[in-house]
Amino acid sequence: MPGGTGAGALLSILRDGRARTRAELVQLTGLSRSAVSQRIDALLHQRLILPGEDTTPSGGRPATAFSFNREARVVLAADLGVTHARIAASDLGGAVLAERAADLPIDRGPEPTLSWVLDTFRELLAECGHRASDVCGVGVGLPGPVDHESGTAVNPPIMPGWDGFPVPDWLGERLGVPVLVDNDVNIMALGEHWAVYPEVEHLIFVKAGTGIGCGIIAGRRLHRGARGAAGDIGHIRIPTVDQVQCRCGYVGCLEAVAGGAALVARLRDAGLDVADGRDVVRLTKEGNPLAIRLVRQGGREVGSALASIVNFFNPTLIVIGGDLVEAGDHLLAGVREMIYGRSLPLATQSLSIRASELGDRAGVTGAAVMVIERILDPETVDRSVAT
Ligand SMILES: [Zn+2]
Repeated sequence: MPGGTGAGALLSILRDGRARTRAELVQLTGLSRSAVSQRIDALLHQRLILPGEDTTPSGGRPATAFSFNREARVVLAADLGVTHARIAASDLGGAVLAERAADLPIDRGPEPTLSWVLDTFRELLAECGHRASDVCGVGVGLPGPVDHESGTAVNPPIMPGWDGFPVPDWLGERLGVPVLVDNDVNIMALGEHWAVYPEVEHLIFVKAGTGIGCGIIAGRRLHRGARGAAGDIGHIRIPTVDQVQCRCGYVGCLEAVAGGAALVARLRDAGLDVADGRDVVRLTKEGNPLAIRLVRQGGREVGSALASIVNFFNPTLIVIGGDLVEAGDHLLAGVREMIYGRSLPLATQSLSIRASELGDRAGVTGAAVMVIERILDPETVDRSVAT
């Protein structure tokens, strides 16, 4: 059975939500009845499974069915963007129990930002009736390059004070649980794939917000690359716009022409009152012709960068998320126009391009999933029941 033959592998079977009897688990695992009973006892002791009501198979003795206890622990998740944040508490099935969204500029620096996150975590726990001791882990998404192993941002261009800041240590010392950190787009890709498209093998999630980036699911797993920089399409050079300066220091980057910050600047130049990507969305929904034209052209720029990536990676699904996708079909229309016009027919034959289903919840869902998959990994479960 996948994940070994221990209690963790048994729990993996039950995580699909179906209750099963000892006899069913014996059949599914090939283990002896006593081995199954021993693993069930260990999982019951940890409250990771619950015994259900006795069921009576036709002609047989009553048997107890066991099911995964999603409520055994709480996961805390923080999706920190450039200008705003979303914080959530969720159960082990990824369901959100309580959440909060707020304006929170990341350039305030790590300690003020994380102090707010910590206070909000405590409020959310109280709101959903849980204690700090119920928390099994914390997942955090940051809007910049993150070294996932150490959980630190690496040379983030718009996050003063965050470079190398030990987020896992800072939060871990205060909450006493493991803290996992990744960049915001990776967790969005993880969340959308896990919650909406678990059956899709190869998926690209594009975040079109203040910046632009993408998360890559390859063979149903998140592909981070050697140092966590995979998917950073925002700084792909677009040859036609060589004169535009990017915040990263180079010129002609995709983000510098199609990112939310770039659109905000263009609309301001035209005398419109806009502060961030949400204002761009508002103007587009109000039918402002310049905003619509800029969003659509931004979609084309993103699409032309993605056209090469589609040829290279051959995904079956591209999901577009982030603030700008809220602007109706204009962004997606631009993206589709370029990808279907420029990618190889073999690569686009079975390709769908859709807006994110989870919307602004994709990040917190993915941050929670990152923790759940680590905590419920069969090996981790085997270790925790052995102690
Ligand atoms: Zn750049």
